[in-house]
Amino acid sequence: MPLDPVPALLSRATELLEQQFDPLPKLAPGCDTHALEQVLADTASRLGDNYPYFHPLYAGQMLKPPHPVARAAYALAMQINPNNHARDGGRASSEMEIEAVGEIVRMFGWSEFLGHLTSSGTIANLEALWVAGQVAPEQRIVGSEQAHYTHRRISAVLKLDFASIPADNRGRMDIDALEAELRRGKVGTVVVTLGTTAVGAVDPLDRILALRERYGFRIHVDAAYGGYFTLIPEALEEPARRAFAAIGHADSIVIDPHKHGLQPYGCGCVLFRDPAVGRFYRHDSPYTYFTSKQLHLGEISLECSRAGAAAVALWATQRLLPLVPGSAFARGLAAGRAAAMELDRRLRQDDRFAPLAAGPPELDIVVWAAPLHGADFRKASQQAQDVFDACAARDLHLALVQLPQSWFWPVGQENGADSRPSVTCLRSVLMKPEHQAWMGRIWERLSAACAEVSGQ
Ligand SMILES: *Cc1c(COP(=O)(O)O)cnc(C)c1O
Repeated sequence: MPLDPVPALLSRATELLEQQFDPLPKLAPGCDTHALEQVLADTASRLGDNYPYFHPLYAGQMLKPPHPVARAAYALAMQINPNNHARDGGRASSEMEIEAVGEIVRMFGWSEFLGHLTSSGTIANLEALWVAGQVAPEQRIVGSEQAHYTHRRISAVLKLDFASIPADNRGRMDIDALEAELRRGKVGTVVVTLGTTAVGAVDPLDRILALRERYGFRIHVDAAYGGYFTLIPEALEEPARRAFAAIGHADSIVIDPHKHGLQPYGCGCVLFRDPAVGRFYRHDSPYTYFTSKQLHLGEISLECSRAGAAAVALWATQRLLPLVPGSAFARGLAAGRAAAMELDRRLRQDDRFAPLAAGPPELDIVVWAAPLHGADFRKASQQAQDVFDACAARDLHLALVQLPQSWFWPVGQENGADSRPSVTCLRSVLMKPEHQAWMGRIWERLSAACAEVSGQ
């Protein structure tokens, strides 16, 4: 683990915080330190049973260590344990949430909005689709087959019909298929994913906006994973750049600060372009209340209790690392993106790997299959699994994912790939800035693992 500056900084900040409550009568220490020490030692020992998520050689799932300032601010807030349900329970932290969310919104170019933090992207999407159902009851929700699996489930919870739109061979919503579904009618909301969970694909939001002109529907952008890439359009290819440039035209947006925003888990965010949707949450306030400065977060949230500490951590992080183009934060994202492009480049030059046929990754997630010999897809799947294991034995942690065979071996070629059946592939989410500098060492391990598995 890296040398950790947090304990020393945290103890100084804790003193500063405690001083502000000095006038109160003193309390006795609340626990038996010896017993605590014992339990914490046991806890540390249990926690050793983990993949090293913080390390650049962990390049598998979407796991990114929180920034030290986020860890410290979260722990500091634990002295208070505020509840951002309402200002009563989280006075300072509600204010900090409103400021932090305002900074996220500025990234998307909105001046008016309604929004708040949630405990996760799933809950944020639930709120967005709940509002969508209130605006257009009886209408359907549609999303690409690569949209996050929870959209279908959320729709079922909300008793809204959900239809899946096929994706193209890069995992993006197929625009012709969407139009065909729109012609069938009763589509209230289209879920547009900017950065799919499996491969980081970016649905063509700009083209979907053009369809909205013709067919009329709400657009919910699920940018839980990809939202922050709005800050680095120069690092993206043209289609993704155009999609992100259009993000401000969405009716609602979800972004997860606990994915790419350097936050501990428990930090999602939902944003609505029209503040008047606050009327759907209302119990006893007129909706004009929701545009006032005295926003009361519990009045515009489906959840009741929420960690004020999550807002404090986000606020502190954004103070250190503002969400603006060209900033240190943006450079961190760009480094992961560069790492992904470099890994993809190396995979394409090496016939021991079968990269995505349609081209390089759109964000910072790379997927590839093992090469196909004699149309033996089962063998290619097994080989991906074996390479995964051989990498893990070398402390390189990748992920496995099931993807359509046709994404790697286009249909119509004599290899017999089918557009539906899937193949097990390797997947690497290169979301840590350090991944760029570590690509050489990642490649060495991948290459050695592959040599061991294939005998090449
Ligand atoms: C991660 C993710 C979600 C779910 O968010 P959680 O914070 O894990 O609940 C939804 N949509 C997309 C695109 C995601 O990547």
